[in-house]
Amino acid sequence: MTTFTMRRLDDMHCHFRTGALLEEVLPWTVRYAGRAIAMPNTRPRAILTADDVVWYRDQILRVRDAMPVQYPFEPLMTIEIRDSTTPQMVMDAYRVGAVAGKVYPLGVTTNSDEGLRDFFSTQIQETFRAMRGIGMLLLMHGELDKPRTLVTKREHVFLPVLCRLVDMFPDLRMVLEHISTKEAVELVWEFGPNVAATITAHHLYLTLNDVIGDGIRPHNGCMPMPKDFSDRDALIEAAMSGNPKFFLGSDSAPHPREKKECARGACGDYTAPHLPELLATKFEEHGKLNRLDGFGSRFGAEFYGLPLNEGKITLTQETWCIPEQCGMVVPFRAGLPLRWQLV
Ligand SMILES: [Zn+2]
Repeated sequence: MTTFTMRRLDDMHCHFRTGALLEEVLPWTVRYAGRAIAMPNTRPRAILTADDVVWYRDQILRVRDAMPVQYPFEPLMTIEIRDSTTPQMVMDAYRVGAVAGKVYPLGVTTNSDEGLRDFFSTQIQETFRAMRGIGMLLLMHGELDKPRTLVTKREHVFLPVLCRLVDMFPDLRMVLEHISTKEAVELVWEFGPNVAATITAHHLYLTLNDVIGDGIRPHNGCMPMPKDFSDRDALIEAAMSGNPKFFLGSDSAPHPREKKECARGACGDYTAPHLPELLATKFEEHGKLNRLDGFGSRFGAEFYGLPLNEGKITLTQETWCIPEQCGMVVPFRAGLPLRWQLV
């Protein structure tokens, strides 16, 4: 039987939620990842301060430690950066272990109702400066919700903001999260070494046709919306290029089935249950399985300044079908085949 062994993944963008959903979704990631960035847009309690970071890490570790089998997994903590976030809040969060601050521009995705309104206010500039000073990363949901702007153009209209920030903060490490356009790939490629991008597994699979082109497919719907074929091609090329500026951030975003299959379905694709398999299948399809370790397990760690994971995972080449449901949530590509399976 053909097998493939690689370092444990670093998932540099993951939604673990809280409560019962946290207990359900976290163990998937723990099985194969050495680390994962825990996104801070949780509800009812958002992660905004040092106290929130400590509280949320405790919740995550409690679920990890209750698993019947123990794996070497550490959550990487973040805080949400809002208009009211001060340099002191950033420094306090850093002191208790937060490695990054995440910006959600107002209104662009799940739980961004209190997102950042102004990237260039005096206070937020000071906050970014403080982050640069202590070596905390700035993670950006790179979309803007502007009047008369289609949802598919939101990333395009955000890119000038990114350009201005890169000009103003040449030493601040920034990550443009879950990029979805050829334009974003090209821009990140050109910037200096302080700017990187995460790419999700689902954006390597989807175009907008998979969301609205053959019935409305709520389980493919996510932000940023998948786009054109040329955009997907560019993402595949970047992810498999071996360029260390592009690394894995799954943006696995579970919502219970009824929150997706309704009149106003939530956005987010749930890839956590089968992330290594989804990646291995896609990389192999393009003859680039040898690039998966860099994309999934090395470049993210290097950009964050972390040692590489020592543990390994093994996949076997075996065709099987993704289950129709995992707990309360319908996984990405439910019912469809994968060519690899995690041992
Ligand atoms: Zn996300």
